[in-house]
Amino acid sequence: MHSFEALADLCFPPSCLGCGISLQQSSVLFCDSCLVKIKFISEPYCPCCGILFSSGENHLCALCLKKSWNFTKARSVFVYNDTAAKAILGLKFGGRKAALKTFRKFKEQCSPCRDLVIPDSIIPVPLHSNRLRQRGFNQSLLLARAFYPEEKEKIKKTALKRRRDTISQTGLDGSSRRKNMRDAFLVQKEADVYGKKIVLVDDVFTTGTTVNECARALKQAGAAQVDVLTLARVAKNW
Ligand SMILES: [Zn+2]
Ligand SMILES: [Zn+2]
Repeated sequence: MHSFEALADLCFPPSCLGCGISLQQSSVLFCDSCLVKIKFISEPYCPCCGILFSSGENHLCALCLKKSWNFTKARSVFVYNDTAAKAILGLKFGGRKAALKTFRKFKEQCSPCRDLVIPDSIIPVPLHSNRLRQRGFNQSLLLARAFYPEEKEKIKKTALKRRRDTISQTGLDGSSRRKNMRDAFLVQKEADVYGKKIVLVDDVFTTGTTVNECARALKQAGAAQVDVLTLARVAKNW
């Protein structure tokens, strides 16, 4: 550990993002009892959207049997539950950048993530410029850098642009979400997209509407393939 980091941890003891108890190092996000509440995604899962199942072998889920997505496959590291939500909020609003080291390690250990295409371009889901100004950073870009630490030059943070400051998706049902997101994204650097195999990165896969709309724009601009990687995945019953 860097000595400055060690000193900072000494002066401002980090706390568990799950329950708030003190921790030794800021690069550790959770105490042991909260860490076990993180549900990592492993087999069996849907080979298309990546949703996990409680038993059986990998198979297409009911949604993917009837729906055709604009992306080829989606994978996520863990299930979005209360503990996961606290970790993501810590990253978004608490400036807990040390979280990224842990997320990187989690992703390296994620076996479904190994199905993802080897990308020519890695594209973070963009924030609208107003939102970016408020927050100061795009958490999807931070995640893309954490997930692909050796691929800096492939990360294309300006390839996609969010056209409208779409109102929060929270509380909207599926069809309202789709209307809200339709044409929300625009490819502004075709050279990063045309003929490329792409991994699109976001923090949470909720209904898939956001990444599906990004993938639509990328495919329309000539992307050869679009896969999706998110840190967390909303999954009922988990
Ligand atoms: Zn804890
Ligand atoms: Zn599926």
